[in-house]
Amino acid sequence: MKIAEFKIKGMTCDHCAQTIAKKFSGNEGIVSKDINYPSGSGKFEYDPEKISREEIAAIIDSTGNYKVAGEMTKAEVKSNQTATIQTDGYQVTDIAIPLGEAGGGQFDLIIIGGGSAAFSAAIKADSMGLTTLMVNGGLDFGGTCVNVGCVPSKNLIRAGETAYHATHSNFAGIKPKGVDIDFAQVIQGKKKLVAALQQKKYMNVVGGYENLKMVEGWAEFVDEKTIKVAPFPKGGAGGRLYKGMKFLIATGATTSLRTIEGLKETPFLTNVSLFDLEQQPESLIVLGGGYIALEIAQAYHRLGTKVTLLQRSPFVLSKLTPDISDELLKHLRREGMDIQTGLTFNSVKEENGRIKVQTEKHGEAKLFEAEKLVVATGTKPNTEKLGLENIALKLTKSGHIEVNEKMETNLRNIFAAGDVADTPAFVYTAAFEGRIAVENAFSGTENKADYSSLPWVVFTDPQVAGTGMDEAEAKALNIPYEVSKLELKDVPRAIAANDMRGFIKLIRNTETDKLIGARVVAPEGGELIQQLSMAIKYGITVKDLAESLYPYLTLSEGIKLAAITFGKDVSKLSCCAS
Ligand SMILES: Cc1cc2nc3c(=O)[nH]c(=O)nc-3n(C[C@H](O)[C@H](O)[C@H](O)COP(=O)(O)OP(=O)(O)OC[C@H]3O[C@@H](n4cnc5c(N)ncnc54)[C@H](O)[C@@H]3O)c2cc1C
Repeated sequence: MKIAEFKIKGMTCDHCAQTIAKKFSGNEGIVSKDINYPSGSGKFEYDPEKISREEIAAIIDSTGNYKVAGEMTKAEVKSNQTATIQTDGYQVTDIAIPLGEAGGGQFDLIIIGGGSAAFSAAIKADSMGLTTLMVNGGLDFGGTCVNVGCVPSKNLIRAGETAYHATHSNFAGIKPKGVDIDFAQVIQGKKKLVAALQQKKYMNVVGGYENLKMVEGWAEFVDEKTIKVAPFPKGGAGGRLYKGMKFLIATGATTSLRTIEGLKETPFLTNVSLFDLEQQPESLIVLGGGYIALEIAQAYHRLGTKVTLLQRSPFVLSKLTPDISDELLKHLRREGMDIQTGLTFNSVKEENGRIKVQTEKHGEAKLFEAEKLVVATGTKPNTEKLGLENIALKLTKSGHIEVNEKMETNLRNIFAAGDVADTPAFVYTAAFEGRIAVENAFSGTENKADYSSLPWVVFTDPQVAGTGMDEAEAKALNIPYEVSKLELKDVPRAIAANDMRGFIKLIRNTETDKLIGARVVAPEGGELIQQLSMAIKYGITVKDLAESLYPYLTLSEGIKLAAITFGKDVSKLSCCAS
């Protein structure tokens, strides 16, 4: 047997080392392998009769992301052996905190979490020349959005929509012939997409960063300048301590479990587990009425699972005005979805392989049954098990980290961004916050997050989208307002498509005529919301909107018509209204 020890370029985390190791699994020539991310090296014991050093190097190079940069010298092998300081079972190692690196034995910035806020922060930090450590546990690097959130859900929503259009037509003369769904293949396609985007949009982007270390593990504060990282995967030996000058907490959020009797003892799925099931559930109960619950329910319904959505509030999307819930529910129910609202949940259990949810409505008991249960009853910030008892970090009542608009917490050297903070919980806000937090922390800038015209979308069909305030918020703030609501049956695009589901609602300040808010329920209505957000941000008046030229027939023409509707009955206008 022989030994080959290579320097390997391009590894940014333990996951990279595992990826390289996987390339050799099943290779009969390799007796043992030890790929080490922190030291950037790989040691192979091999059988020269079956594989050569050159072939081993070529396999590493074939990964594309990692390259052999020569053989390790004896001196390098020796210097890689770690000197350790024992502290409460955790070690500060010269691998963990590379001595002599910029930062003088500690990192300029430690990012806890490895999702969108964290990556955006790391990218900014690199551009500022900071030494950065990113620690991520739980989900894969990339966090919620790419692995278990936006990307898989939107992929399955589009798959469901394709199936739906293959079986439903808006034109009497077009008769769909049905659809053949290979559910396992749909999920496998989703898995490929997630893996590709996770690699391309996250790992590859930071792949070449020399000042960034990425570590897999669960981080806890020991004090305001130190974290300990539990070994990953669980059960590994020891742990590590890291010191940082400044910290960004970007640990995201996870499904919050309602207190329903029996729920904790009953098998259930969440967005983390559901999207990977290759065997199609015959039936699903979805608990919750927020956007995650609705998107999941409609996608799986359209893919052929019998879905029942159970919601406690009388409305879905219950933070919005009830007209939105009414409109959306009307269309979802017409499509055949079983949506039950205004329920009291009494208990949940599994019996004979079936999930049973016992509820009550107006004093009447109602039992719902399905093969599987999905819990999507909102989210809670990941602030547990973060060692917050060791630092005096201020949380809000909901458990979110309290931040000001500069992403500063009450502790001078600690910032927070993304779903863990008390800010809107979207991937684009998370990424924005991660970036400005780092800029504010290290360059003395005063970037602020202003969400007064934030656009957002719920990806049901019809979609629900909004920006700015609604009439209830305007009223609560004592802003003089007026609402114009245009049904899609008055929008030429919708009429021509024989699809008139929804409305466009504009809210204006009656003193200034400026647009202050908008809500849209419409097929692909999310595509309208950015221009309305820009209109609010740049102080565009409703008169400006009404007098602008919009292409006929586009859905966005509905914005002009809704603007005109403030003063006129739009149904009485000729085509291409002005
Ligand atoms: C089903 C679903 C669909 C969604 N769809 C959309 C959409 O279409 N558009 C949109 O804008 N947003 C969407 N979102 C929301 C979006 O995914 C999140 O707002 C965003 O991903 C939050 O990013 P983050 O960086 O704050 O946290 P995350 O991406 O959650 O990353 C946090 C990371 O930190 C890890 N972590 C937690 N605690 C620790 C610790 N102590 N130590 C180490 N690591 C830790 C977590 O495991 C995770 O890997 C969706 C969410 C879900 C669940």
